[in-house]
Amino acid sequence: MSDNKTEKTIWVMCASCGHNHRNHRVLHEKVKRYTDEPYGAVMSIEYHRFVECMGCESLKYVTSTQDPLEHDPYEDGERDFKVYSDAPGTVARRAASISSDDLCGDDGTPLIPKTVWKMYKETLDALNGGIRTLSAGGLRATVEAICLNLGITNGTLQQKIDELATQNLLTTPQAALLHEERYLGNAALHELETPSSQAIEDGLGIVEGLMNTIYILPKKAERLRNLRQGS
Ligand SMILES: [Zn+2]
Repeated sequence: MSDNKTEKTIWVMCASCGHNHRNHRVLHEKVKRYTDEPYGAVMSIEYHRFVECMGCESLKYVTSTQDPLEHDPYEDGERDFKVYSDAPGTVARRAASISSDDLCGDDGTPLIPKTVWKMYKETLDALNGGIRTLSAGGLRATVEAICLNLGITNGTLQQKIDELATQNLLTTPQAALLHEERYLGNAALHELETPSSQAIEDGLGIVEGLMNTIYILPKKAERLRNLRQGS
């Protein structure tokens, strides 16, 4: 750790620069001191730093600790450096593909039922938080919520998806895609298998298509029909 008047730097690993140690500029630093109550002696120090690589400019969150009792006060006794490369802002977040303009009808009532939207949002949040197993389960829960909202409550999820197709709410290819998505949730929750981000992304695309078909497109068609009929 070097420290001069102009800037603080820290020497840690940069995964973006060929997995080598690089100097990183400290953009923000928070030092937490844990004291030995009631005596007030500092027992340990935790450093939390938001840093920028001076090679590739990637952003990271770095933590380290220092034990003042074990180290010579004239030496830099920082240790246990942990580098988190996935700092917020460096990860492309998956946004909801359904535009906020489409979430409400002309009279302001939500087009997508609250239960469906809640499951969908939580799935997205889990994916963006890197919790992929739970986001796979969330995809399954979103489909279940859609079926429940449509009054399709009998049988297994597979039978419910078939019923969506029977009621012409899904085309056969869409139902086939949805069956794939069902396997994704099953494997994740029953076999404790973590799906890839791409598998979740594919599943999200199917679920978003389903929400569009069932809740948004009919309202858009109605709006156009009303315009055409001049009402
Ligand atoms: Zn770098």
